[in-house]
Amino acid sequence: MAAPLCAKTQIAREGQPRRAALTCYMQVLTSMTSLPFDEALAAAREGEITRDTACLLIRAREGYELDSLMRAAAQLRNRLKGRRITYSKKVFIPLTNLCRDYCGYCTFRKDPGQPGAQTMTPDEVLAVAEAGARLGCKEALFSLGDRPEAIFPEMRKMLAQLGHRTTLSYLAEMCERVLNETGLLPHANPGLMGRKDLETLRRFNPSMGLMLESTSERLTLAGMPHDNAPDKPPSLRLKTIEEAGRLKIPFTTGILIGIGETLDERVDSLFAIRELHERYGHIQEVIVQNFRAKPDIPMRNHPEPIQSDHARTIAVARLVLREMNVQAPPNLSDDDYPFLLKAGLNDWGGISPLTPDFINPEKPWPHIERLAERTAAKGFELTERLSVYPEFVYRDEFIDEGLRSRVRSMADGQGLPPSQAPA
Ligand code: SF4
Repeated sequence: MAAPLCAKTQIAREGQPRRAALTCYMQVLTSMTSLPFDEALAAAREGEITRDTACLLIRAREGYELDSLMRAAAQLRNRLKGRRITYSKKVFIPLTNLCRDYCGYCTFRKDPGQPGAQTMTPDEVLAVAEAGARLGCKEALFSLGDRPEAIFPEMRKMLAQLGHRTTLSYLAEMCERVLNETGLLPHANPGLMGRKDLETLRRFNPSMGLMLESTSERLTLAGMPHDNAPDKPPSLRLKTIEEAGRLKIPFTTGILIGIGETLDERVDSLFAIRELHERYGHIQEVIVQNFRAKPDIPMRNHPEPIQSDHARTIAVARLVLREMNVQAPPNLSDDDYPFLLKAGLNDWGGISPLTPDFINPEKPWPHIERLAERTAAKGFELTERLSVYPEFVYRDEFIDEGLRSRVRSMADGQGLPPSQAPA
């Protein structure tokens, strides 16, 4: 696909002979220097990136083009974010792994009665949160299956015993108790949420999240990863993210790459996130997560994205999303994960000194000290953040009134936890 000529080249062609001659000469060299690619990259550097140019850039060829793309993204990251790479010290609370969806790549979900199926009791939740608080964690990340009570009577029964009708109502109670009884800041990531759910959870969560994953409707067709996942139609996920924007909730979202989407569809997903952020200003972080094959999932034989594919997507995400924080989880990459720093990310996500990654249990997080060392070896400083990013900590409209003093008591003047030494 050819990129449109940039404005400077148009001017050169139309009226200035010397510059026009130079332009023509450069066109002769196109095959050697990837001129359409270079023009697209130059425009992207200046913030002029369209869907077409992003689709061109994400196809960067290994070598000169990919190196140039990553360098431009890294330079933009350095300019907007400096040399700081953040992470959040968290515990992971898988409130329930029952889920009404059957995503083809998921190893987390279970049906009732399956080995490992579990809904945590309040005592279990609080025990994990308290242990995390003792280790200096500041975030309680609640991840859970989507609306299991819609199809499992066992879940309805358990919720009734706990005094609730819905999983989201039980989640809200546990967020409130974790906040009040342990001091950890909840960050709820429970799947689709309606306005009322978001309003309730906002009172106890300074930030929340929902992975967009992809805007591709194709992925919901028969044989595709979301063909039996009623919560995965992109329009529904965009609606939740938009509602969070209307309610001014600092919001984490992201894309999942390598699940059958095309490169253009990846770009469409990034632009959909950008468009919502332009309207509501609430996207605090965009995760570029790579699919990992596991032996017990339907997509066990599906190829994983290679590292350069992950890197090119992170780089395009940086150029499209600009000042938004771009994250990739270090435990889902090979041991040379610091390579991804060259692609323009500025956050490693939540790292737990206590709980495993229940979504990818076979991929342990690196120790925080090791992560700090390896980040420093690339010239960056690993810096702890809260679950809510520093950009939002002092903006009243983005933090519920009842949470403001608590959140700010955990932050310094920059909105970061005062103790910066990795522990
Ligand atoms: S990825 Fe989420 S929504 Fe899909 S099956 Fe797993 S837990 Fe359920």
